[in-house]
Amino acid sequence: MDLNVRWHSQSADAAMAKLGSSDQGLSHQEASRRLAEYGRNRLEAGEHPRLLHRLLKQFANALIYVLLASALITAMLQQWVDTAVILGVVIVNALIGIIQEGRAEKALAAIRQLLSHEAVVRRDGQTRQLSAEDLVPGDLVLLQSGDRVPADLRLINTHELHIDEAILTGESSPVTKTPDPVNGPADLAERFSMAFTGTLVTSGTAAGVVVATGTATEVGRISGLLEQVETLTTPLLRKVDRFARRLALATVLLSVITFLVAWFWRHYSLPETLMTAVGLAVAAIPEGLPAILTITLAIGVQRMARRKAIIRQLPAVETLGSVTVICTDKTGTLTRNEMTVTDVVTRSAHFTVSGVGYEPEGDLLDGGSPARIEAQPAVLALATAGLLCNDALLHREGGEWRITGDPTEGALLTFAGKCGLIHETGIRNQPRLDAIPFESEHRFMATLHHDHQGSHTIYIKGAPEQLLEMCAYEGPCEASQPLDHVYWQTAADELARDGKRVLALACLRLDGIKTELNFDDVAHGLTLLGLVGMVDPPRPEAVDAVARAQAAGIRVKMITGDHAATAAAIGRSMNIGVGTGAATGGQVDGASVERLRQLINKHDVFARTSPEHKLRLVEALQAEGEVVAMTGDGVNDAPALKRADVGIAMGRKGTDAAKQAARMVLADDNFASIVHAVEEGRVVYDNLKKAILFILPTSGGEALSILAAVVMGVLMPITPVQILWINMVTAVTLALTLAFEPAESDVMQRRPNPPKQPLISGFLIWRVAFVACLMVTASFGLYLWYRGNGHSLELARTIAVNTLVFCEIVYLLNTRVLARPALSRNKLGSNPVLWWGIAVLLGLQAFFTYLPSFQGLFGTRELYPVDWLLVVAAAAAVFMVVEVEKYLFNRREHADVAGENSRKKAARLSH
Ligand code: ATP
Repeated sequence: MDLNVRWHSQSADAAMAKLGSSDQGLSHQEASRRLAEYGRNRLEAGEHPRLLHRLLKQFANALIYVLLASALITAMLQQWVDTAVILGVVIVNALIGIIQEGRAEKALAAIRQLLSHEAVVRRDGQTRQLSAEDLVPGDLVLLQSGDRVPADLRLINTHELHIDEAILTGESSPVTKTPDPVNGPADLAERFSMAFTGTLVTSGTAAGVVVATGTATEVGRISGLLEQVETLTTPLLRKVDRFARRLALATVLLSVITFLVAWFWRHYSLPETLMTAVGLAVAAIPEGLPAILTITLAIGVQRMARRKAIIRQLPAVETLGSVTVICTDKTGTLTRNEMTVTDVVTRSAHFTVSGVGYEPEGDLLDGGSPARIEAQPAVLALATAGLLCNDALLHREGGEWRITGDPTEGALLTFAGKCGLIHETGIRNQPRLDAIPFESEHRFMATLHHDHQGSHTIYIKGAPEQLLEMCAYEGPCEASQPLDHVYWQTAADELARDGKRVLALACLRLDGIKTELNFDDVAHGLTLLGLVGMVDPPRPEAVDAVARAQAAGIRVKMITGDHAATAAAIGRSMNIGVGTGAATGGQVDGASVERLRQLINKHDVFARTSPEHKLRLVEALQAEGEVVAMTGDGVNDAPALKRADVGIAMGRKGTDAAKQAARMVLADDNFASIVHAVEEGRVVYDNLKKAILFILPTSGGEALSILAAVVMGVLMPITPVQILWINMVTAVTLALTLAFEPAESDVMQRRPNPPKQPLISGFLIWRVAFVACLMVTASFGLYLWYRGNGHSLELARTIAVNTLVFCEIVYLLNTRVLARPALSRNKLGSNPVLWWGIAVLLGLQAFFTYLPSFQGLFGTRELYPVDWLLVVAAAAAVFMVVEVEKYLFNRREHADVAGENSRKKAARLSH
């Protein structure tokens, strides 16, 4: 088969013929054969940078330059052990960096796999959903608004099709597409009869035949557009990076000062002076920090994925922890999206319907007693309209009734089934000629049918307000009478007040022959057949999640396309917007900036909204200083999702357009998963903070010991190699375990993290300085004491190193609980990795202290039990002092928060 054809200039029929396809699509055997021949429909990810390149990248870091300079100085002094150890550290660091980056990237790639792309295809005459990777040339693909085009297609038929081709042509406004051939060698942007991989359907529907897949597509040919490997960075990590650079500069300065003091004031020898300056440099550099932050982030992303929240852009992880408002859809997110028709209103009666789920078994009840359906032609006409104006499928799977498609429509099929109507028979009697699909902008769907006697009928269903505008009559299609607007409006309001989703159904009998359906055809003069009311129960877990979010200081707002009364009733049942009622899209439309501000402050339920309202609401909330998470599923939700601080797309019912615009995708469309993600976001933020809080005082303590030694004119209490030993072993065994810290028990009882909180806050500086001083007092104090009692320099240094390491162990216990006492029972057992880390570290310290080869390398001596006792006592003292500091600090902070809350409350009341 020759695929090297100018497809856009071929006629649709010729293209189908050349590709050996038909309106039944390919057969399964043929599709498998072609899959073997042409390969999977995917773009290979961009070539991975070579290992050497990745290794070199690890060295491009100001802190590493300082270490390399230190290695050079020790080499010049012929202190070969020091040189070797410093270089060893640099290399080990680079290797750890590469391994962790690789692991993190792999984890992210695996998560992205969860977002695999689907396509609707016809094969063997049946329509089905397939992974887009299985498409082959000749497949017949169906497109609808919101889809990402899964392969290059020659369009066969289109209906109001508009495609956004910005990723290919850079043209930002959508292009109108038709199946008419385009002559000549037209540019990509002018090939109106084609749809290209990766572009987005902004409106309309179409069918097209696949002409190219994988790397043979237009996108595949432009290598620059191949999926890029996302860099593992976020605003916080960038801040840390900037901080590291400043730290490197400060370290160099400090080393120079130390050099000057040692040389001019203390008159050290040149080698001694240089070694002191080097010691200070290696002490002050937190070698492990960048790698630990990256891995913390990656672990957080994995945890979120396990809880059904898939992160598409890493910065979302941090932002989630700061979210102050969640704006959520109702249907399917807060509710189950399992609709059941419970009420039917005709001109003469209000029936209820029994039966649960999608099983088409149940009765029509009139005042509680069963009514004979055959005797209710108005109900039958209504059920027929619901059956025909419908794109869903009702089928039985393993004994259970299920639907494919929109649950609102599925419920109508079940209801029709209860009335004895079957979809296949209905369609056979009245085949469909054309349709206007449902969109939340116009809130109705219409289909055009003909019967075998030659008459044509349009069926419409949609929101009652919308349909009442379009209807002039009521009653059966054949014999209608003028519409009683008040009767229907009252009936619809009553159903909605009960929290029911209300749909009106109407029809229009046509005189002549018609094959196409347009908006003008249904604008007026329709005949209303009746109303149906459906229940869609809240998800129980969403009710809990709303409560959890509210306890965490997050306001939950429901923004829905449904009726105001329905939305308010469902909101009430979930404790959203109780007592304030629903605002409507109409109110948002005409609102001034000030009025909008009042609306968003007062109301938590917004009904009858369309996607533009979502955008206005996000902007208004952000103007109030809120950090907004916003859900969406439709193609027109994309601008609001992009604008929100965390745009959240629905994984199941969301369109590709929404997913592409979102920073996070919910695998199960469930509100509870958003709250889980917020919780994990807070945990990641806590853990990043803990890692920084843990590592910096350690480096600071070491640097301070050396400074103190110089100022006091004594020999260094810890040598550069010993410092490197401490930094490396504690980074790997202690600091890394913080990445695995589970949530603190109060994580969802605190207020959201202030988004603009500086990384180097006053608290951090205080904590670093305070703990550094404590560690110096302990280790340098013992060092001086041992020296004072006539012990060898080596023994005193071994004591100093072990004291520092033990101080770090206890300080890790302090840090892993930010605000509460460290020694609670459930906290101690909550992170087994931590205890493994400590056990390994103790083993390493035993080697360091007792193994002859280590003693040779690091200049250490063996310790006796009484020495250990002193070391442990010093560490225990440090632990206690930090706990007291934590207690005092938090008491002050609580007092501040309480004060701020009461100020806010007073301000709201006066408002
Ligand atoms: P959200 O998901 O935003 O919470 P929603 O799903 O209730 O809200 P839409 O899907 O925009 O909102 O529906 C708005 C209204 O349109 C519904 O109240 C209903 O009356 C009508 N409607 C919904 N689905 C269909 C459909 N498939 N065909 C015709 N009308 C529909």
